Order: sequence, then C-alpha cells, then structure tokens
Amino acid sequence: MWSNVLYIDLDTGEHQVKDRADLFDKYLGGTGVATQLLLEECPPGTDPFSPEAPIIFSIGPLNTIFPCVSKTVSMFKSPMTGELGESHAGGRLSMAMRFAGYDSIVIKGRAEKPCYLSIHDDEVKLKDATSIWNVSSVEVIGKILREVEPGKGRRSIMRIGGAGVNMVRYANVNVDTYRHFGRLGLGAVFGSKNLKAIVISGTEDVEIPDIAPYSKMYNKLYDAVVDTEVMEKYHDLGTAANINVLNQLKGLPTRNLQQSGFENAENISGEYFADNLLLRKIACSNCPIGCIHIAMLKTTFQKGHEFEVNHISYDYELIYSLGTNLGINLAEDVLRLIERCERYGLDIMSTGGVLAWATESYERDLITPTDTLGIALRWGDTNSYLKMIDKIVEMPNKFYQTLAKGTVAAAAEYGGEDFAVNLGGLEIAGYHTGPASIVGQMVGVRHSHLDNGGYSIDQKAASQQLTEEQMVDKLIYEDYWRMINNSLVACLFARGVYGEQTIIDALASVGINKTRDELETLGREIFLAKYEFKKQQGFNVDEIKVPGRFYETISQLGMVKEETIREMLELYKKKTGI
Ligand code: SF4
Repeated sequence: MWSNVLYIDLDTGEHQVKDRADLFDKYLGGTGVATQLLLEECPPGTDPFSPEAPIIFSIGPLNTIFPCVSKTVSMFKSPMTGELGESHAGGRLSMAMRFAGYDSIVIKGRAEKPCYLSIHDDEVKLKDATSIWNVSSVEVIGKILREVEPGKGRRSIMRIGGAGVNMVRYANVNVDTYRHFGRLGLGAVFGSKNLKAIVISGTEDVEIPDIAPYSKMYNKLYDAVVDTEVMEKYHDLGTAANINVLNQLKGLPTRNLQQSGFENAENISGEYFADNLLLRKIACSNCPIGCIHIAMLKTTFQKGHEFEVNHISYDYELIYSLGTNLGINLAEDVLRLIERCERYGLDIMSTGGVLAWATESYERDLITPTDTLGIALRWGDTNSYLKMIDKIVEMPNKFYQTLAKGTVAAAAEYGGEDFAVNLGGLEIAGYHTGPASIVGQMVGVRHSHLDNGGYSIDQKAASQQLTEEQMVDKLIYEDYWRMINNSLVACLFARGVYGEQTIIDALASVGINKTRDELETLGREIFLAKYEFKKQQGFNVDEIKVPGRFYETISQLGMVKEETIREMLELYKKKTGI
C-alpha cells in the first residue's frame, strides 16, 4: 500500500523510485525497513564519511494518519561509534514524506560541490548551496530556504550548521527548527556528502482503504491522548519536570557524574523554566500534545535598551547535559549554552559530556591552558563553555580536533578514561538510576536510553524489588517491542497510548493484520538484524568498557557493583543470543 523508496545519487544528481513492498509488507516501515536498507546499502567496513555510506530516512504505515505517530527514523553508519547510527526526529518531516509519496529515502554519493536537495512531489533536484554552505547558523539556513523553496504548510526543512559542515562527529541535523536527528552524528555525514539541507513537500492525499474503522480508531486514540492523564506530563511541564524528581531520587548526573544530585537543581528545574521563561508550546505535525517547550531568552546587545530575543526549546536532557552536568546555576545560562549549540547544530547531550570531561581533565592537569588556547575551565563558568563550544566547531588545534570526535577519542588521547562518561561510545543520557540504565545503554542497539528505557526499569526496581534477571527480562521486552513502535514510527512519549493491543487494532483499521505473536517475533527479528549490522561493522558488546565513574557515584538504587553489570550482561546475551 505504502512502499515507495526514493533512491538519490548525489554523484550524478539522478534519482529513481522503487516499490519495495517486499520490505514494507514484512517489516512494516520505519526502523524495520530502514535496517534492511542499511544492510543492503552499507557493506562491512564502509567509512561513514565515504560517498558509499548511505543516509536512509523511513516512515511507517501509521505516520500522519494517527495522533502522535509523527516521527521519522534515519539510519546511517555513525562516525561517533563506527557502527549502527540511528536517530529519530519529529517536526513535519514524516508528514512531508507521506504527502510527497515517499516511505523511505536512500541517499548515496557525494556532490561535487555544496548542494541541497529540493524534493517536491515527483520533482527531485540537486541545487547549488555554495552561497549558504558557510552560513553556520541553522536558524538562518531555515529562513533562507523558507524564502526560496515552495511547499509552505506541507513542507519540512532539514539542514546542518557549522558543526555538520566541519564534520564534528556529533553534529546533528536540524529538522524544522525545534526538532533534530540529534544523536550519533548524522550532521557530520551530511557534511561529508557536501549536503547542506533537504527540503521536502508534497501534495498527495493519503488514501485510507476503509474510512469507517479508521475513523473509529482515530477517535479512540485521540481521546486517549487528549482526555486521559497518560500524556499530561509532557504537555504541562514537559520532560524538564524530571530535574527535581531525579535530583530527589539521586539519579541526576552532576559535574561529570561526580555527584548524582545538584544543590541548585531548583534554579534550573522544569518548574522554574515554566514559571519564568516559558513562552509557548508547540507540536510535531498531527500531535495534539505539544510537548515542545519554547523559552524566551532576552539579551542586551547594545546600550539604550536594545535587546535580542531568542526562542529556544528546552527539555530534560538538555538541562541535564548543559546544566547540572556542568554545574550551571542559572536557567538563563543553560539557555545561552543551548542556543549556542543549536546555532551550530551540535548534539547537546554529547557536547555536554565532552565539556564535562574536559572540565574534570583540566582540574586534574591532564589538559593545560596551552591545549585549551587559554580558556580556563571551571564548573559553572558559562562564558568559558560558550568559548569552548565555538572552538569545538572551529577546531583550531589538535586538542579541539580531538574534542570534536567525542569523549572516548579525547580520553584515549589525553587520559581520564575512568571519567569519560560514555556507554558504547556515546555520551550518556541524564539518568544514573542503577544497573538497568547502565546495561540498557550498553546493549541498546543505538546505545540510547530510549532503546529500552533502562532508567524506568531501575525506577520500578526501587519499589518492586526486582531481581537482576527480572530487570534483564524487562530490558529485552522493551528492546523488542520498541522495534515495533519505531517501525511505525510513533513518538515514544506516546508509548503509554500505543500499547500492544492498540498497535494491533490501529494496524488492522488500515488493513494490516498482525497478531501479537507475529509482532513480537518481528520485533526480535528487527533487533537481531540491527545486531547483525553492528557485528558486521566490528561491534562486540564484550568490548564495551564501563568507566569506573559509574561505580563511584551513588545511584538511585545505591552503589552499582561491577559484578552486577557483568552478570546482567551475561544473562542478556544468553537470552537474546547477541
Ligand atoms: S509528544 Fe512531543 S515529541 Fe512527541 S510527537 Fe508530540 S510534540 Fe512531537
């Protein structure tokens, strides 16, 4: 029904569309299909920055037609980890792909000179981007492309800033200003292909096979999203509500995870932001929640009451990584740091991790003012961090070139592996909740806290006394079922709405009939296909080093022991077969 794949070759500018019902019938869409395309298009040993390395985007059968099924998945080979790269973004992209009639897009090659892709229905053009290539700000790029490209209202604009152009390995891709393909370095892959942006829009209708069951299902889902408490938190304070909660539970990484609570958390809490800085809330297309919290940052730029006003989106992970993890005491300073990273298109979670490692390394004299080019690093010093962010993007010397590769590369060069806070090569999310969070990010296919939600399993263990084996079983359940949510590609904030039976019913309402067992088997199959790709590219879960810092700082569940992690990992390997 919906199975068109648009293949684009940046070397020649040519494109073709293939019907890949063979993939969509079996793997639904989204991450299931994208994984197969990645296996097809990215042979073992492919350099992530080579022309042969693919960029893949995929949506699923329910995108645009049901509430909160608003995401697009991108898959690629990650320049951060050298293995599976996967990132999810909201905004208007899935809607634009659906209306343009493309369920997946595969981009290969490298353009001879800076370019951007202009895709409007069946018109696919490679356009010259020489004049905007060195425009560093993603906001400005967005403004320019909105002026010159058609499709307003049904359009999505992806672009990279200075970080992607300079191939900082944790550069992101900005999507429609306030959303991102944030993690694992897709922005650097864009940069390596001379690809500054992709604009996509479409005018097709979405045909529903039988409108009556679809309408009934839509109304049921809409009511569940809007009229129950399942998603209230996301609309109200947003995920930033977690700052105070995690702080009280001793699960909030602070100052490079030297602490798990921040003495000034209240000042940068979701409550503080909402009461003092929140300007408005916006939503991805076809989402009635609107969890995207936009704050206003007013700064003086001249005497005589001349102000610049920036609109900056914030959430829990950003406040943790550029706030508590750097010891920043003022919410306005957190916004200044977010704004600087956003401008360049940097993954904020990785940037915060890198800056935290650098600050501790500076304190321990592993790096010197000669390395930092005179910047003295101190916890809480916003102005120094702003300068560091500039330099990470500019890469004026070997030290900053190394920082631009991430925490693991920096520690390999300068030392401090024990406090290079990463799991699987990726700077961690903001949860030091216990062993399930650690093991979850080690084994998760993209080493993300969202692969299996290990942090929430720790939180359950706090009240239910779960054994290690029970925690591992819950991780595996989430690992498999989230493959189904991500093949649809439903927003994971709405996973309380899109449970097993709801997914089955929603698929059936548009003529896709799957049983629970079939979906569970499919989830496992997709998971193992991702592991096949990871292993092809040299990944070995036994080689993941857990930095000593994780065992030195108390977590929500108390001190985590190395033996516990080892035992849970062995159990996980045995049960999944990875
Ligand atoms: S809940 Fe938030 S992130 Fe999810 S689809 Fe809605 S607006 Fe987008």
